[in-house]
Amino acid sequence: MVQKMDSIWFDGKLVPWDEANVHVLTHTLHYGVGVFEGIRAYRLKDGGSSVFRLKEHVERFFHSAHIVEMEIPFTEEEIVDAIVETLKANKMPEGYIRPLSFVGAGAMGVHPGSNPIQTIIATWPWGAYLGEEALENGIRVKTSTFSRHHVNAMMTKGKVCGNYVNSVLAKREAVADGYDEAMMLDTAGFVSEATGENIFIVRKGVIKTTPLTSILDGITRASLMELAEDLGYKVVEQQFTRDEVYTADEAFFCGTAAELTPIRELDRRAIGKGGFKVAKHLQGEFFKVVAGENPKYEHWLHRYAV
Ligand code: PMP
Repeated sequence: MVQKMDSIWFDGKLVPWDEANVHVLTHTLHYGVGVFEGIRAYRLKDGGSSVFRLKEHVERFFHSAHIVEMEIPFTEEEIVDAIVETLKANKMPEGYIRPLSFVGAGAMGVHPGSNPIQTIIATWPWGAYLGEEALENGIRVKTSTFSRHHVNAMMTKGKVCGNYVNSVLAKREAVADGYDEAMMLDTAGFVSEATGENIFIVRKGVIKTTPLTSILDGITRASLMELAEDLGYKVVEQQFTRDEVYTADEAFFCGTAAELTPIRELDRRAIGKGGFKVAKHLQGEFFKVVAGENPKYEHWLHRYAV
């Protein structure tokens, strides 16, 4: 259960948590055209707080809306301010932030006409998405029987509500089969991404991640690529197959919720010799960055005071 907070920002103002409700004929509820973000605020080492890469998340939020031709009736700056306002209202020095824009009630049918575009921002505490133990010891993953979206069916650069039916199906299947997470292949059979994470593998010291074809352009992915390069690693974006993951020295998932989670096993095959040397190095550096301990990446932090 999500922990109940005081307020949710709803179309320009804060409303009590229990009053942030919509009509059952809300268009998005029926047809899935809505866009959202997942953002994290972290407590900083110096006692302050910051939202990690807030500008980039809000920019992607608007890009997602543009892709599905939804006009969010606020500016990016207004959404940035509203996110901070919501964190403050809920007295949250850290936590998870969920902006969502959706097509409200009015016309039905797949052409929503002039139904209102509504926007909410909710925040709640959210610890390690796959568990603290996963961050430390890695997870067991299954290649999904579900393919990731064909790029001309659903547009994966948009963080669009309806796209996540595919994620829910893959995640449910993986969990029911006793795994922690699903790895999905694209429709050509190459590794794509997980249900809410991008993927990296490490082979002979080179870090490889999937190109931006069938995947969400993850902000954690981009951050880790930059961080890894700055630490002297060679990073390449290149298609790879599931057997390349089986035989990789290391593999890991990343995302706002999952942060950097090592993959211990894929389809019952242990990956590498354990230890997660590169993954742990990057994870440690990433956690320093989000905690404001590396001044080089101060520009990734949107500081605020509760
Ligand atoms: N892929 C998918 C399908 C996701 O839902 C997410 C989470 N937003 C990611 C990748 C990782 O993206 P980010 O690092 O921006 O959270």
